[in-house]
Amino acid sequence: MSTYQHAALLVSAAHARSFPPDLGAEVAIAGRSNAGKSSAINALTARRGLARTAKLPGRTRLLNFFELAPLRRIVDLPGYGYAAASEAERASWAPMISALAARTSLRGLFLIVDGRRGLLAGDEELLAWAAAAQLPVPVLLGKSDKLKRAELRQALAAGAARLANRATLQAFSAVDGTGLEQARRQLEDWLK
Ligand code: GDP
Repeated sequence: MSTYQHAALLVSAAHARSFPPDLGAEVAIAGRSNAGKSSAINALTARRGLARTAKLPGRTRLLNFFELAPLRRIVDLPGYGYAAASEAERASWAPMISALAARTSLRGLFLIVDGRRGLLAGDEELLAWAAAAQLPVPVLLGKSDKLKRAELRQALAAGAARLANRATLQAFSAVDGTGLEQARRQLEDWLK
């Protein structure tokens, strides 16, 4: 299993023109603010502090490209569903998200959902975006360590029914490692 010991923030893009060249392979990762996206990035790459760099003031609203290995990237999308993002900021994301969908290096999208909250409106927008771009989407039902076994079963069943064939769904926890190996295998497979 790869670890990405040399992973680093490559660029925080405010415009599509700042994106790195469309070469190699990259995987997008999205979720509502506080869903656990940064923790998932750190867990997936086994680089504890990696995503913290993307949480510095001013960067949470940008597209953060992490280089895991040469020409292998994770693209961290701005966390949505947070009232503090202004209309203007949100408007600035749309062209970037469109440009991202057009990149040939983009292989798939991890969608992180807070397991206690399930899929919400913003998540549906991302699912529609991924469907239009014909991207496979594993939805990671995060913070699964916070759910009791029966609650988790119920959340997985409700999520699967709602997603139908639009995405796959699996339990995930950055804290106890549930689903981590499976997600890492998926990442590695995409970045091959
Ligand atoms: P982001 O805003 O989506 O990047 O979310 P963060 O990764 O910063 O996580 C938001 C909060 O949820 C933090 O307090 C994390 O410690 C917590 N958190 C993230 N992932 C997990 C998890 O798998 N289990 C638990 N129990 N807490 C988590």
